[in-house]
Parts: sequence; structure tokens; C-alpha cells
Amino acid sequence: MADKRVSTKSKKSTGAKSKKAVRSERRFMPERSNASIATMAGTIVGGLGVGAGLYGQWMTNPTMAVAPWVLAAGSAVLAAVLLWGDLEGTVIRVGDAGIVWERDGKVNRRVAWCDMREVEIRDAMVRVQLEGEVMTFSVASQPLAAAWVAKEANARIPKRWKASKDVIQSLPKTSSDDGEGLVVEPLQVTGRSCRASQRTITFERDARYCVRCGEVYHKDDLPDRCLTCDADLRDAQEA
Ligand SMILES: [Zn+2]
Repeated sequence: MADKRVSTKSKKSTGAKSKKAVRSERRFMPERSNASIATMAGTIVGGLGVGAGLYGQWMTNPTMAVAPWVLAAGSAVLAAVLLWGDLEGTVIRVGDAGIVWERDGKVNRRVAWCDMREVEIRDAMVRVQLEGEVMTFSVASQPLAAAWVAKEANARIPKRWKASKDVIQSLPKTSSDDGEGLVVEPLQVTGRSCRASQRTITFERDARYCVRCGEVYHKDDLPDRCLTCDADLRDAQEA
């Protein structure tokens, strides 16, 4: 293991004096699932149909009798693809700091493990229940990311993790070199409130976070064990 990697187990230090830890995560590109291949094929077929229909209808003389039908069929396929097509193919990251949904190569949304009310894999979707909203991604386009969510959620927030044995067994096996390894950018902790005392964190240096679930505490109100995941907070890190 590289020496800069953080181990939540080997490092015993007091929360107040601990050094800043490097947090890492894995980045997963969406796979070309059957659904997205069908989407692409549908788009092409639909596009060709509309094109051929338009051509037959307006460009040729005399008008081909079949043109309106080709146009209608092409339009219907396109409409179906637009309505139900799976073109999203979101880039997903999974790691120490939770799950990230990317958009255009940037973090669009990051959800820390401690902020997940429930994590579930059901109906081929990873569903993350937050307060007042649900974030999802498709297992078909992100099977490895789903497998890592299963592994991490089970280790970090087992009481909030839900999936049937069949679902878990259907996920791909994880390996240490899955995905693209990234270092997590420093987290925004100011403005969050301490999980124990509700005190608002005003200065970054006052913040300590739980390495297992990411829960944030004020350094003066740090309990022995994490109130969210029960991890030993002697391992708590400066933000
Ligand atoms: Zn915790």
C-alpha cells in the first residue's frame, strides 16, 4: 500500500492532534449497457426513418406513397427513445467521502455516507435516500460502481444499507484496482453543525470528521464513538 493512503485501522491518534488525512475515491465511467445500445440504435433508426420519410415526402417527385408512413414510424421511434431512452450514462465516484454524481466532468452532487438515510439496490437501480429526496443511478450502466456502493455502504453504514442476497450476488466482484483512483478535494465543513452538540462549525480547524461515515463534529464536542456509525472517533481527522 502506498504510504500516503489512509488506513482507518492502523492509525491510532487523538482527534485533536491528528493530521489531515488524504481521502480517496474511485471514478467509474458508465458502461454501454444493452439499454443504451438500444437507445443509440433507436436514435439512428428513428433518425433514418424521419430522414427517409422527409426525403420521400418532399424531395422526390412524384411523392412516394410510403413516405408518410416511414416518417410516422421514424418519429414514433424517436419519441419513444426520447421518452424512455437511457442516454444518461452518469459518471459515478465512490469512496471515502461518499458517492458523487458527475456532470460534464465535474462534481454535480456529492453525498457523504453520514447524510444517507438509506442506501438500497432494487429494480436494477442504486437508490440513495436523503432527507426529502432520492438520488439514483442504474446498475446496468454502472455495475462496478454499484458493487462498490454495496461494499462501502455495508462497511460504513450497515444499518442503513439494504439489498437482497440475490441482488448482491448478481453484482460484479470488486478488486482493488477498479475505477480511476482520485484524491478527494477538501470538504466544505464550515457551516455544518456538529452531530453531537449541534454547534455550527465556524472555523475549518475546529472540525473533525469520522473517517468511516464522514460525520462532522466540533473538536471540543467530539464523543468517543461516532453517533452515526459507531466508529471509534480517536481516528477522527481534521477536515
Ligand atoms: Zn461515523
